[in-house]
Amino acid sequence: MNVILVFVFLWMLMVVVASIFRYIDRRKMSVYEVVKEDYPSLFHNNMISFGCGKGWKKLVLKTCKRLLKANPKIKIDQLKEKFGGLRIYLNVYEPETEKIVDEAENESFKICEICGTRRNVTVEGSWVKTFCKRCRARPDWW
Ligand SMILES: [Zn+2]
Repeated sequence: MNVILVFVFLWMLMVVVASIFRYIDRRKMSVYEVVKEDYPSLFHNNMISFGCGKGWKKLVLKTCKRLLKANPKIKIDQLKEKFGGLRIYLNVYEPETEKIVDEAENESFKICEICGTRRNVTVEGSWVKTFCKRCRARPDWW
């Protein structure tokens, strides 16, 4: 009986440790890497570019999920930051997916592109960027 309990405990411990490592790994990964892992079907050979700050990772993942739900065959031509907002260009033009893309862009203006916080976020600068107060103060932000 005790042996079984020890095994169950060790197994549970391994699951917890593995998920902690997984979480740390995912945090380090770029937006490109996590989307490529979770939603590979969104990529195609003619993709122009794909990338933005890690602060928008959650928003991008949520948006990808919504896009695929609306159209399982959809592909992303380009994903980038422009004038402080998240821009996603798709291979097709449909009202439903355009709405999702617009909503993601509006949402991105409230989230720091570097750290992902929603506190003290402003859209400004001579090179317009959406950053929180703390990240904007960093001299190495770009
Ligand atoms: Zn920040």
